[in-house]
Formats: sequence, C-alpha cells, structure tokens
Amino acid sequence: MKRNTVQKKTIRKYLQSVKTHPTAKQVYLEVRKTLPNISQGTVYRILKNFKAKGDIHEINSVTNRYDGDLKPHSHFICDKCNKIFDIFENNKINKHQCKFGKITSSQVYYHGVCNKCNK
Ligand SMILES: [Zn+2]
Ligand SMILES: [Zn+2]
Repeated sequence: MKRNTVQKKTIRKYLQSVKTHPTAKQVYLEVRKTLPNISQGTVYRILKNFKAKGDIHEINSVTNRYDGDLKPHSHFICDKCNKIFDIFENNKINKHQCKFGKITSSQVYYHGVCNKCNK
C-alpha cells in the first residue's frame, strides 16, 4: 500500500473512532503514535482534502475541529470547556428533502454551558 494511503486510512479511522471532535493538532498528535514519521503539514493537508471531498465535517463555528461521523447530527458546544457534544435526537431538521431541493448535509450548532461546567 502507498504511504499516503496508509496515512489517510489511519486519520480517517481515528476520526471515526472518537466522539471528541478533535482539532487538527490533536489529530496529528494521535496519528503520530501509529505513524511516527508523519508531519503536521501532511495531516493538515489530508484533513483539508477529506473536508473538500465531504469525507469528514469541519465544525465551522470552532476553528479546526473535525468530525468523522457523517450521520446527520447537530452539535452542542460548551463555551466554557469547548467540548462538542453530538445531538442525534430531534433530527427533524435533517430530512433529505425540503421545498428548495435535496439536502445533502446540514450543520446546526447550539452554544451553551454543559452540565459539567454548570455545576
Ligand atoms: Zn463544559
Ligand atoms: Zn459530531
């Protein structure tokens, strides 16, 4: 297998395995454990490439956070600890069709303070 293919596979697998919505830097640090020779530039380039192809989502309201879960879902973002939570319930907004056309993806963000920070 080509080196580039292995790198891409590793990054995609990592993103699909976590629920943390990691930053590009976190992706780099994590992937480096398996691929010690990978450079930060390569990781950033692959992430950009994935994003352009629609293989991953970039959380638009927070810079450089990525999501490997492509199932339609919304996000709750804690403004205190910056954790991002997936909301899969209440997905009425994510119908495949609306009166303007076919919906292929959607991103909804709810900002607030999570239960842990609210204590
Ligand atoms: Zn919080
Ligand atoms: Zn998510």
